[in-house]
Amino acid sequence: MRELAPYAAQAAHSRGRHYREAPPRNRSEYQRDRDRIIHSTAFRRLEYKTQVFVNHEGDLFRTRLTHSLEVAQIARSVARSLRLDEDLTEAIALAHDLGHTPFGHSGQDALNACMKPYGGFEHNLQSLRVVDMLEQRYGAFDGLNLTFETREGILKHCSIRNARLLGDVGERFISRHQPTLEAQLANLADEIAYNNHDVDDGLRSGLITLEQLSRVRIFARHMRVALKEYPRLSGRRLIHETVRRMIDTLVTDLIRTSARNIRSAKPASVDDVRAAPPLIAYSRRIRDESLELKSFLREQLYRHYRVARMSMKARRVVSELFHALLSDTRLLPPEFQSRAQEDAPRAIADYVAGMTDRYAILEHRRLFAIEET
Ligand code: MG
Repeated sequence: MRELAPYAAQAAHSRGRHYREAPPRNRSEYQRDRDRIIHSTAFRRLEYKTQVFVNHEGDLFRTRLTHSLEVAQIARSVARSLRLDEDLTEAIALAHDLGHTPFGHSGQDALNACMKPYGGFEHNLQSLRVVDMLEQRYGAFDGLNLTFETREGILKHCSIRNARLLGDVGERFISRHQPTLEAQLANLADEIAYNNHDVDDGLRSGLITLEQLSRVRIFARHMRVALKEYPRLSGRRLIHETVRRMIDTLVTDLIRTSARNIRSAKPASVDDVRAAPPLIAYSRRIRDESLELKSFLREQLYRHYRVARMSMKARRVVSELFHALLSDTRLLPPEFQSRAQEDAPRAIADYVAGMTDRYAILEHRRLFAIEET
């Protein structure tokens, strides 16, 4: 195995876990984090949570689970190439969406609107709540008791107000420091993964077309290269040959540009990384092209009227569930009732956010359809 770079996060120098535990015997501290995440309940639920398309809309669309696996794959390749800690990168990538509500962004917007008077709802913070408190698997503590570095990586964004409440993982938002390179990388790998798989899923669903995409520079350029190599290619193979070239270009550019940034900033430790500007980055050209693709997807796919119709239903399900449960907390399952005595809105938000798409639909039916029990 290649040695880690001096600027990589070193498991042996981790800031550690909230509750002290004996060091792992056959793996590093970050491998242990990754393993705990994979064994968590929230991780299994990702299989039935929407990325863009609701679970029942088709079997081949990405879910939060396959999305998280793609993020981990991309992030690990880059981590290895930059001699960063692959296990930490993987742990952050696999955990980054654990706090997502059912029904993707519309679910999160609806829950945030419901929670407005009670401190709001934000999926990054919720991912941290899942690993810090909501998972209940250990005798000695709530949550998964992950290392500081994994928790810090999960908390991608955070308001200053919330940062003050969070203690150690919130500090960097107040002092304006960067997280580890592993965390910076997981963040960009997320973007590479969803931009590319949303192109694939969008085409598969028929909501966007190749003709529209051929007006987006990065797609058009790679489709031309694919067609030059395979002039008779069409349909799904052409899409895959184009998408894989786009991913390769984005990943290669990310490695090259980041390596160059690291060479000129010369960080000798993680502390140097924290004090430097973000070092994991695209070149200007690729950043612009990636932004163009992102805004294309926003306009043409995420705001497509068929997606908007499903989003409207999703928002209704989430908001009706929330308000029904808040009006009478005896409707909650017993384990949430006791927590609701302390803070009913937060306990309900935790319950609703934990639901998979189909569980939310079922629970909505149970509460609102008179013939259900
Ligand atoms: Mg994501």
